[in-house]
Amino acid sequence: MLAEIAAAAALICLDPGHGTAPEIGRELEPIGPGSRQLKIKDPGGAPGEAPVALAIARRTRALLLARGYRVAMTRDGTGYRGGNRERARFCNARGAALMLRIHADGSSDPALRGVSTLVPALRRGWTSDIYAASRRAGRIVQSDVVAATGARDLGVVERSDLTGFNWADVPAVLVETGFMSNPREAALLRSAGYQQKLAGALARAAQRFLIR
Ligand SMILES: [Zn+2]
Repeated sequence: MLAEIAAAAALICLDPGHGTAPEIGRELEPIGPGSRQLKIKDPGGAPGEAPVALAIARRTRALLLARGYRVAMTRDGTGYRGGNRERARFCNARGAALMLRIHADGSSDPALRGVSTLVPALRRGWTSDIYAASRRAGRIVQSDVVAATGARDLGVVERSDLTGFNWADVPAVLVETGFMSNPREAALLRSAGYQQKLAGALARAAQRFLIR
């Protein structure tokens, strides 16, 4: 019971991908603290991805608020003016219990479909403080989303190249909710019913991660 009360006060930071103002999205930023390797702030994502990510995030926020959690969103519209470093810093500054990044995938192969969850790879000084917790969160998110949607399970994937992970000081995961490049999956991702299914799975996963 005490754990539930403590967890209920936790803040979840939702980060719907992309939707950056084009002139900002073209700018470069270091992929991690002290890195000379630069990466574009926002290549724009798959066609149609940004509004789908935002719609799922808004539905997830509603469900989390209804369960008594606090929620912050890195963006709640188009024209975001930061990069992935700013997205991570936004969640860091709020002491988020989890940074939940919401995306959809794209591929040149229209047959590709399914859900994957990206987690930070281990890198000393960058992600060593969040690696284990992020992995645990990633496994929960992946299994809950696959169970709720019946989507093809593409697994949990470690990534060392994602700026938004390397700057995060709070547990962080990125769910690729499906492929916008697959006509059937794109139609599902654009539908209110499927978005709500995804939101339910994400809210449940966040809660399972927090109440261990
Ligand atoms: Zn994306």
